[in-house]
Amino acid sequence: MADELIVIGAGMQGMTVALALAERGVRTLVLEAAERPLLGASLRNEGKIHLGFVYALDRSGETARVMAEGALSFTPLMERWCGDLDWAGNRSDPFAYVVMDGGLSTPAELEAHYESVMAEVDRAAEAFGSRYLGDDELPAVRRGRGPAPGLRPGLSSGWFETPERSVDPRMLCAALARAVTDDPLIEVRTGHRVTGTTRKESGFELRLEGSSVPPAMEATQVINCSWESRHALDAEALGSSPRANYRVKHRILVRGSGGHTLVPVTMVQGAYGDLVPWPCGDVFVSWYPTARTYFGDAPATGMAPDPEVASRTLEAMKKLIPGLVGFKVADHGPCHIVAEAHTDIENPASGLHSRVPKETEGKLGWWSLSGGKLTTAPLASGAALHSSPAMKSGSERWTTRESSLSPFLSTGPLSGLKASKTS
Ligand SMILES: Cc1cc2nc3c(=O)[nH]c(=O)nc-3n(C[C@H](O)[C@H](O)[C@H](O)COP(=O)(O)OP(=O)(O)OC[C@H]3O[C@@H](n4cnc5c(N)ncnc54)[C@H](O)[C@@H]3O)c2cc1C
Repeated sequence: MADELIVIGAGMQGMTVALALAERGVRTLVLEAAERPLLGASLRNEGKIHLGFVYALDRSGETARVMAEGALSFTPLMERWCGDLDWAGNRSDPFAYVVMDGGLSTPAELEAHYESVMAEVDRAAEAFGSRYLGDDELPAVRRGRGPAPGLRPGLSSGWFETPERSVDPRMLCAALARAVTDDPLIEVRTGHRVTGTTRKESGFELRLEGSSVPPAMEATQVINCSWESRHALDAEALGSSPRANYRVKHRILVRGSGGHTLVPVTMVQGAYGDLVPWPCGDVFVSWYPTARTYFGDAPATGMAPDPEVASRTLEAMKKLIPGLVGFKVADHGPCHIVAEAHTDIENPASGLHSRVPKETEGKLGWWSLSGGKLTTAPLASGAALHSSPAMKSGSERWTTRESSLSPFLSTGPLSGLKASKTS
């Protein structure tokens, strides 16, 4: 017999949509290729809950709007599904945005963009409330005085204090894993890679690969949250899929004395990097020229941790940020970033400067879901709450809200599902 609803991929997207559906009383089976859930991009990212500052080159302002909505709905949605979370113990201090000499935007252009971001943040707060990773209010952006914090002098032409923070993704993944394990309506089967799909009269057959797994399974509805496999599976199920761009970036964590005194920094605007110190003392270092190792129109194959990439990235960052001297690589590994673009980030016209998700690919029971960022994953899944009659009295906010993800909401992709159990 066909399983009613199969979610492909146990990352942040797949796990949060399963939790949103369980809240509506819908049972899901999550198929995950890896040996454990939440080992992909949702673990290996730098945890920045974007307010929209970094998307200054999307002149339409759409990406900033999407990020502001994702960021302000992030805390209430994660707490709704995972219970209270220790934000203060796992978040970074606010980021300094440092304008690098020779970058793609001037300080004046960025100042204007940051003001418009804060206007979007205010608008999003009207809909979602103003809680952001444990902060109840977000201070204004201010132009920094003196040299950029932590950076070697002579590299930048200005900097800004922003309210943006990052949260350690390991805390988020652990909380999601607990919530899913505790939910009787969600079953996760690991070691199940979906390699393809065929449309059947009443749903889909999913072809599988893995040791001791059946060669195929059937489902009446499928939600595809498989990140780097999503476009290829969509193309088979739906007959077409937008062209995707795949980059491999490495997660590089470093440790050393004085981690707590480092200031979180994002270098803008172009192919630069970030420094993200978390309260536990671990520091995420990202330097685009060394940590982005693949760019192509298909996922990379044979990805493996590369100690050379990790040490080159740390050495490059030490030249910019003297406070890292003495730090050593603690952990590292590659991961895909998937976006719809065809040129790299140094091109202002690259689609990489805009992230407005188009996750509404619903057709005859196949739904393709990705918020495009960690920041927007819970909100994209929150759409699954929208058509729940049970939610209408409990949360007007979610049922009345028109957001940038409204196509997904208004088509009510999941409204046809029968609740298998009402909680
Ligand atoms: C280095 C790096 C830094 C980043 N920094 C940030 C940041 O600071 N802020 C931000 O908002 N975003 C950031 N991102 C993006 C963010 O990590 C992703 O948008 C988000 O985690 C995607 O979640 P997901 O659940 O869709 O993907 P994943 O977490 O990758 O989950 C997809 C799951 O599907 C499984 N899977 C794949 N193919 C198959 C298949 N065929 N069959 C079965 N299972 C399959 C995978 O094993 C995986 O577990 C970053 C990404 C990277 C790589």
